Parts: sequence; structure tokens; C-alpha cells
Amino acid sequence: MSRKSAVMPDPTAIGNVSSPPFARLPDPASLFSVRAARLRQLAGISNLAPYLRFLAELVQTQHDIQTDLPLPESPDAKAIARAREFEMPPLDRGQIEVDKAVSSIFDRLFAAAAAIEKPVAATEALAHVTAADPAERLAMAHAVFSNTLPADAIAEHVFVWAGLQVHFARLASVLDVAALAPVADGVCPVCGAIPVSTMVVGWPGSHGARFCSCSLCDTLWHYVRIKCVLCGSTKGIGYKEIDGQGGAIKAETCDECHGWSKILYQDKLPDADPVADDVASLSLDILMREGPYHRGGFSPLLAGF
Ligand SMILES: [Zn+2]
Ligand SMILES: [Zn+2]
Repeated sequence: MSRKSAVMPDPTAIGNVSSPPFARLPDPASLFSVRAARLRQLAGISNLAPYLRFLAELVQTQHDIQTDLPLPESPDAKAIARAREFEMPPLDRGQIEVDKAVSSIFDRLFAAAAAIEKPVAATEALAHVTAADPAERLAMAHAVFSNTLPADAIAEHVFVWAGLQVHFARLASVLDVAALAPVADGVCPVCGAIPVSTMVVGWPGSHGARFCSCSLCDTLWHYVRIKCVLCGSTKGIGYKEIDGQGGAIKAETCDECHGWSKILYQDKLPDADPVADDVASLSLDILMREGPYHRGGFSPLLAGF
């Protein structure tokens, strides 16, 4: 594998960007089934095939368990207005309780995941989270919110994260997108989590605009290009990529904070999914580990590599 290591400007950044929406909320009815299909597609062409096939099944269960689940209630309008006044996101992760609704998602997901073919370690991790009481599950949820998974229990936290994603995507889906406002650089305006990756989209009306993809609730929010997602700097931005892949996925590096974020280019990867393609492009993460930059996006599915 040959590699480009020079920092280069992004030649595709020049384009006709119309006025993109500030955010696009997730549609939990299609989000996970589309992602599962993409993971199956990527498994067919990747040397990570066994892992991608496992993830495809896990994401399919995220879709399947929603049948018959009542849609969550929209948060109280006054609470949303108050959050906005203090430049806080409308969904407060810190206030989560493993209540009946969250427990029901965890129980359904963990039961359905038992049928997925997986390594012994993942089977044991699933048994652990299945038996865990609400307090232990809550502690694991807070580890997910802190973007740091304990090295000896990554698989457990991936299962918990998968349940939390279903919960927060459903909560996000009933919000009023027009009431959202920016919170901070690199912070989801719906739930306050950090992105998994970013994507330059090909949507009509937003062609060439970049969106961050929330690692928790799957909201996409607009973020200008050639600007560090981590610290907001527009100085010292560079791009790295794996040679021979047509510039479909790049690492945007920042010399101010020494971080990097992943960018997927939908014009080159029309079916790109911010979570699925992030995992399948592990080789870019491995390349970047050789350099001085630390990865900025939170990627629980890559935490074990
Ligand atoms: Zn979010
Ligand atoms: Zn930066």
C-alpha cells in the first residue's frame, strides 16, 4: 500500500455550495436498515469482512427491535427553550435514566443479538450486559458519553452504545429541526455528543456541503469545510489519504490542536454511511496512528483495533 504523507490542500473544496440546512434529524425507521445494507455491501469488498458482517447483523437488530416500540414523547417545549437560551442541546445525556423505555430497548437488543454469530468474547460480553442491572447499564452509558471505553470491556460498551443509539435517534427524530441552534464546534446540536465522522454530501440543494454525523443520536449537522471539527481553527488544515482510493475518504488534520477528523465524499461513495464507512476505512486510522495527530471523532466500533 503506497501512502501520501504530504499535507495538501483539498482540491474538491471549491464548488457551488447552495444553502444547506443546519441539520438533518435521523429517521429511525430507515437509518439502521440502510446502514445494515451498507455494512453487508462493504463486507463483500473488505478484508474486515467477518467483523463487518457481525456489525451488519447488530445494526439490523437496532432496526428490528423498534417494531411496536411507541415513539418517544417530544421533550417539553419550555425545557427546549431553556436549553437553547443557555446554548445547550435539547437532549441532555447527563440526565438519562435507565427507565422503562431505555431498559426495554436494551432488553430487546441484547435478546435479539444473542442469535448473531460472533466470537466467544462477544458472546461473553453480551451475557454480561444482559445480566447487568440498570445501575451497571447506566455506568456503562456514562462511559459511552465520555467517549472513552475501558479497554477490558469494549464489547460490552459497544452493545450498550448500540442500544443508546436507538434511544437517542428516536428522541432526536421527534424534535423540531427548525428550533435547533449551534452549540459549539464539533458538538451535536441535538444531544451534545461528538461526531463519528463527517461527510461531504451530494444532496440536492446541499451539494458539496460538509455535515458532521453524531456518534450517538445520528443527527447530521452542517459544518463548513476546511475548518477543524475539533477546535474550530481554519489555520493549519491539511488532508491525508490512502493512495489509490480516489480521494473518497480523507483525514482532515489540524496543526492548531493536532487532531484529525475523517471526511467521506459522497460524490465518490454515493452509498457512504458515516458509521459503516468509518469502520471499513480502518486502514486510514492505522496510517494516521503513525503521525503526530490524534483522532477526534468517537468511534466505539474501532475502539478494539
Ligand atoms: Zn447527537
Ligand atoms: Zn483543531
